[in-house]
Amino acid sequence: MSYYDVLIVGAGHAGAQAAISLRQLGFEGSVAMIGDEKDPPYERPPLSKEYFAGDKNFDRILIRPAAFWGERKVDMLLGKRVKHVDPTAKFVTAGDEEIGYGSLIWATGGSPRMLTCNGADASNVHAVRRRDDVDAMMAKLDQIDHVTVIGGGYIGLEAAAVLTKFGKKVVLLEALDRVLARVAGEDLSRFYEAEHRAHGVDLRTGTKMDCIEVRDGKATAVLMQDGERIETDMVIVGIGIVPETGPLIAAGAAGGNGVDVDEYCRTSLPDIYAVGDCAAHANRFARGAQIRLESVQNANDQAKTAVAHIMGKEDPYDAVPWFWSNQYDLKLQTVGLSTGHDQTLLRGDPAARSFSVLYLKGGKLIALDCVNAVKDYVQGRAHVLSGAALDQAQLADPSVPLKEVGLA
Ligand SMILES: Cc1cc2nc3c(=O)[nH]c(=O)nc-3n(C[C@H](O)[C@H](O)[C@H](O)COP(=O)(O)OP(=O)(O)OC[C@H]3O[C@@H](n4cnc5c(N)ncnc54)[C@H](O)[C@@H]3O)c2cc1C
Repeated sequence: MSYYDVLIVGAGHAGAQAAISLRQLGFEGSVAMIGDEKDPPYERPPLSKEYFAGDKNFDRILIRPAAFWGERKVDMLLGKRVKHVDPTAKFVTAGDEEIGYGSLIWATGGSPRMLTCNGADASNVHAVRRRDDVDAMMAKLDQIDHVTVIGGGYIGLEAAAVLTKFGKKVVLLEALDRVLARVAGEDLSRFYEAEHRAHGVDLRTGTKMDCIEVRDGKATAVLMQDGERIETDMVIVGIGIVPETGPLIAAGAAGGNGVDVDEYCRTSLPDIYAVGDCAAHANRFARGAQIRLESVQNANDQAKTAVAHIMGKEDPYDAVPWFWSNQYDLKLQTVGLSTGHDQTLLRGDPAARSFSVLYLKGGKLIALDCVNAVKDYVQGRAHVLSGAALDQAQLADPSVPLKEVGLA
């Protein structure tokens, strides 16, 4: 059986950052990363943005050049999937191989949630999670005109924006009564709905699909519950992810929606950490609620926390969440978590396509969504961190820089 002092399962954002941090902090033990994709770690956000749009090739989205891992003595065990973890004898099983570990970092992200209706397995129904998903779509784009996007979250909206750039006719179906309902307030949702419609997307909210009509293995239409038939040449499904935690939970790790971790990213199993999209943690910015965050920020910061702990340093995870989304010429940057807000303030004018939505709870600024408003994003961050109650008239006045806003 081979053995590594630190074995990282999952060669994505969090896994890559864990290996990078280990070597940056001078860890001299053996390190390996096992990943079930064939490629070394790459950035996932461009899959629905620059990579899908053809503005960046694959080499430009690698997290590090392919040679980096060998130079840093990180063994890359790619194209292998861990199916079993033995937390007592401390080894994992991938295919026929058993690999022992001193510490295990579980960084497996999530798999796209797929539709369960008839036709969901047609060959032109695609998720957007991996390079292979996007390559498969890109290979077909020249031959198609009509695309149906299921789901009005960030990934569905970003995909719709790229497709309209390519001149495709896009129908976007969202079951809830507004897009981005899970992550943003209504002002932002309505702004993005209007933007997409202005770019020609047939965006429908509060709408329920029934199933997918298939001919010769291919989706030809999406059938709606009200009987409408939407002809389509491709279906893109962006309805969230299911955390990849099966082998760890089977090994006895506590968890439900993700593997539960403490402030050092430790699971309930000895010497096993979990980081990134798959890890559920109590987050200060979610007012202590146990949540999973699906963001590059969280993947990187949790990886750093776990590595610090492995190296004997107690540096609890307490990072402020941030995120971004690019659609058309709009750069959205978010900081904090808006869930649970009881008030919003609009700063700036959406018609000018540069504004921020400020989320307050009990008079305190808890989050900002900034559209083409990078200064608000940068300066608002300190207020989210401080948790102080601020002067609301100044907060809503774009002529007052956020860093100059006084206390209430
Ligand atoms: C299209 C798209 C756009 C996004 N846009 C943004 C954005 O704009 N901003 C932002 O902050 N975040 C964005 N995200 C989210 C961000 O990419 C994720 O939060 C981040 O990738 C999480 O990192 P991770 O390491 O936890 O998981 P991943 O990066 O998904 O890596 C997990 C890896 O583990 C592998 N794996 C899973 N199970 C096993 C197993 N049993 N054995 C071996 N390997 C396994 C997976 O195949 C994968 O390669 C986007 C995500 C997608 C898909």
